[in-house]
Amino acid sequence: MTAASTIDLHAHSTASDGVLSPAALLARACANGVRVLALTDHDTIAGLDEAHDAARGAGMQLVAGVEISTLWERREIHVVGLGVDPGHGPFIEALSGNQRSRWERIRAMAERLETRARVAGVVEAMAAVDTGQPGRLHLARYLVQHGHARTIQQAFDRFLSPGRPGYRTPGWMSLAGAVAAIRQAGGIPVLAHPLAYKMTGAWLRRLIEAFREADGEAIEVVIGTSDRQRVMQVFDHARRYGLKASIGSDFHGPNPAGIEPGRLLPLPKEAVPVWAALRDMDGVAVSA
Ligand code: MN
Ligand code: MN
Ligand code: MN
Repeated sequence: MTAASTIDLHAHSTASDGVLSPAALLARACANGVRVLALTDHDTIAGLDEAHDAARGAGMQLVAGVEISTLWERREIHVVGLGVDPGHGPFIEALSGNQRSRWERIRAMAERLETRARVAGVVEAMAAVDTGQPGRLHLARYLVQHGHARTIQQAFDRFLSPGRPGYRTPGWMSLAGAVAAIRQAGGIPVLAHPLAYKMTGAWLRRLIEAFREADGEAIEVVIGTSDRQRVMQVFDHARRYGLKASIGSDFHGPNPAGIEPGRLLPLPKEAVPVWAALRDMDGVAVSA
């Protein structure tokens, strides 16, 4: 496959809910022609050491990243941090708060699935998720594998969404708290996949204003599922609010939709790419 972009700033490994190890992810990205990859696992930096070694071996640049789950106005919003210092104590402490909430939530959701929806064995299966951070995607995969849903989307719609039997409200850190934690660790806060929250235009503008106000710096203008129209829609917001533009596949593993590391539409020519800011960081030499 020919990569459309040599830069991909959003991807997951087995350190959270991806299906490839950090090394396998880097190898796949490299084969696709990606030269700069950010590993952005959910609420953890545990995959970075392995990814760093793999990147060095392949002659690629690794951007140390994370994707933090946050709450804003009782909605779940994701903030990507790029170029974070993985040795920064308060940052690791902030992530560990989210990790505790994550485990408590998934355990509670598995228990609800067993008692309310008669999904056998799911509590035990979740306890065995030992490669990293558990998420609703792990529950969804279990539901599909055991015949409770035909697709991942159906598993979410029937069991894992607000109002459904397996749902439980998450206990994430605040949006502003995540932005501050990323800043303190020397990173660049990026508002992830803004159209995924399915907000009205007015709500989305409020969210972007709050993110700006909290000292956010960039927004994901291009993601793996973007079409031209969605790219321009987000780019309009970036321009209006003076945010830099990021680009990332949000790859979780081989998938029928064909999302791949580096398979990305280009940024609009007038966009200010976030890698202009990454380039100034220690050890990250990014050129477009
Ligand atoms: Mn995920
Ligand atoms: Mn996300
Ligand atoms: Mn993601």
